[in-house]
Amino acid sequence: MSDYIVLVKQVPDVSQITDNAFDPESGTLVRTRLANVINELDAQALAFAQYMKNISGDANARVVVLTMGPPMAEEVLRYSLARCADEVILLTDKALGGADTVATANPLAYAVRKIARDTLKNEKDYYVVSGMQSVDGDTAQVPPQMAEELGLPCIAYVTGAAFRNGRFEFTRIISGGSQVVAARKLPAVITVAKYEYPLFATFGATRRANKTKVTQWGSEDINATLIGVKGSKTAVIRVFPPGKSTRKCKHISDVKSLAQVIVDSVKGGDGKPGQGVQTGAERYILPKRRASLLDRRFEGLKKEQEDYCILGEQISKLGITDVSGISEADKEKILAAAGGNFHKTVLDNMITGYEATEPAFQGEVWVVAEHSNGQVHPATFELIGKARELADSLETKVGVCLAGFGIEPMANDLIAAGADNIYTIEHKLLGEFDPNAWRKAVADAVSAYWPQIVLYAATPQGRMLAPMVSYRVGCGLTADCTGLAIKDSSRKGEIGLLLQTRPALGGNVMATIRTKNSRSQTATARPGVMKRLPPDPSRKGQVIRHKVELTQDDICLEIIKTERGGGGVNFAADVIVSGGKGMQSRDNYEQLLGTLCEGLREKLQAKVERGASRAAVEQGFIERAHQVGQTGTSVAPKLYIALGISGAIQHMIGVANTETIIAVNSDPNAPIFKQCDYYIVAAIEDVVPKLAAAMKEV
Ligand SMILES: Cc1cc2nc3c(=O)[nH]c(=O)nc-3n(C[C@H](O)[C@H](O)[C@H](O)COP(=O)(O)OP(=O)(O)OC[C@H]3O[C@@H](n4cnc5c(N)ncnc54)[C@H](O)[C@@H]3O)c2cc1C
Repeated sequence: MSDYIVLVKQVPDVSQITDNAFDPESGTLVRTRLANVINELDAQALAFAQYMKNISGDANARVVVLTMGPPMAEEVLRYSLARCADEVILLTDKALGGADTVATANPLAYAVRKIARDTLKNEKDYYVVSGMQSVDGDTAQVPPQMAEELGLPCIAYVTGAAFRNGRFEFTRIISGGSQVVAARKLPAVITVAKYEYPLFATFGATRRANKTKVTQWGSEDINATLIGVKGSKTAVIRVFPPGKSTRKCKHISDVKSLAQVIVDSVKGGDGKPGQGVQTGAERYILPKRRASLLDRRFEGLKKEQEDYCILGEQISKLGITDVSGISEADKEKILAAAGGNFHKTVLDNMITGYEATEPAFQGEVWVVAEHSNGQVHPATFELIGKARELADSLETKVGVCLAGFGIEPMANDLIAAGADNIYTIEHKLLGEFDPNAWRKAVADAVSAYWPQIVLYAATPQGRMLAPMVSYRVGCGLTADCTGLAIKDSSRKGEIGLLLQTRPALGGNVMATIRTKNSRSQTATARPGVMKRLPPDPSRKGQVIRHKVELTQDDICLEIIKTERGGGGVNFAADVIVSGGKGMQSRDNYEQLLGTLCEGLREKLQAKVERGASRAAVEQGFIERAHQVGQTGTSVAPKLYIALGISGAIQHMIGVANTETIIAVNSDPNAPIFKQCDYYIVAAIEDVVPKLAAAMKEV
């Protein structure tokens, strides 16, 4: 019978952010001003492990809880003891601090090995259970990277479990639907995306929790190979406040005005989405293509750009033609003119930096394609659009890694979308997405061709595959990027780096990250943010067939059932009306949303389609094909009306390119009100019939 090693993390409580949590000068969040709590999804993972123990009927199964963090992280272990943990371990050491996900996954994996050896006595029948992601990092990378280090199967995005015929079957979220799977071998790692049945502390357990000694390990106890800043493969180079939403966020108090806004939005739309589409920032040019080698306007940091600007001006003023031979006297003059902006060492580094003209990384810019039923995922096309821009700047080619079975017919669409080379990995065992088999295939291709950049869509599949592949090939990874740009760090002699910008701490700060100690720069990018190029069927490209050896032993999951939304939904409609969990029932969805759609069709003479949030689909209000969002469809209508939808990031990603978003919600603090153009605070059952009637009058 199984035992459970649960991973938990202490995180800042981002749900309680007040104004004084922000630094007034930089506008960024000061973490020390926030209370610390157990990461919510880890609390759910703990409850999930206990649920697994209960349904397996094994009262003797052990629940061992592990956390890595500062000494005060002991609190989350006491939280766990007060609920169901039998044993708790705190991995704490200054040497472990400042780690990225690689240098977090690695020591955690070594600690799991030690628990398996010392506590579980090398018995193989155990699950490592963790939350899908932590609220401070939001990467979802640590569990798959840890699984990769341990050589274990990873079942990510789990939302349920059943115990049948002596083994667990897990329900999990996949792109476009859900799936029931079982691990083909144990141990296995599972990550919990949602389990909303909290565990409460008992009186007896709380008393025991306060008395129990927490086992503490330091880095020498586990002998991990990649720890702390040194072991990390990415570095944060800048943290800054997120830009304000460009949506209007206007409150509307009466139904008649709302009806008028609807008519104006569809009849008078300007064709431009409120946000999400990239604006044309200046395209990067390699130094050797610039008019002068002194032109260093593409430095990654504004300060470095400014310093080079001052230096360039002074060099021109002093009439210096040979930069490598600048005299000490001229340097003194430059430093005096710089007025303390930079000192002598920096000046020397900047001057040496002029010699840097070649990109620090070599190779193509790759996109790892995602597809199902012979159709390429829209996010793959968006990434090819971005890859084209990056590759043109770096004067290299766009490659697409296309793994699967029966895949070659998709190559033409990928080339038309902007790819030059399609690296196909065709194998019967890649017919369904199995993390281990796909990881083996894609890692094999990456290490055969060594692209300088590898991009994946930040879908459940991409966020699972990218950590495993990048960890396997020894490269850093940045999750869920919303910005990718090529920049230089001339002072360090590094040209053409991929700077990866992403939201962190629940979207409260933005971070720009670079890759280090790696041969490829790898990122997952948020669907709906990058821009797809118009297809050009006349483009020519090459198909390169890459062979990999795979056997049944490489398959880690048994897929029991897959449910994906079918076709038949016209998401190219002008107007999409979506219902969320707030619709309360299938009848409400049918009647209220149906009546409104009918009214809109008549009044606007436009195509109107029904959409839904994932929660509404899970409640059975409508079929999965209607789901909008990260794991549903990304839509870009003229008008999107959200009825009873809270505004979770996974939903809003799917509507980023919509022109106008209107939200109806009874909660005056609904998060969607900060991400829409117009909103009305009202109960759906009250407002929708009135709105349908008002549509006839405006
Ligand atoms: C990996 C992953 C992928 C996901 N992919 C998607 C995805 O593709 N699409 C998606 O939508 N979600 C997705 N989700 C789920 C997402 O996180 C949210 O759970 C989901 O979007 C919530 O749906 P909802 O807004 O309908 O429900 P809730 O968050 O429960 O919100 C319901 C809203 O209805 C309001 N309400 C209640 N009653 C009324 C009433 N009578 N009148 C008016 N308003 C009312 C409430 O105030 C509330 O704001 C994903 C999650 C994960 C982890």
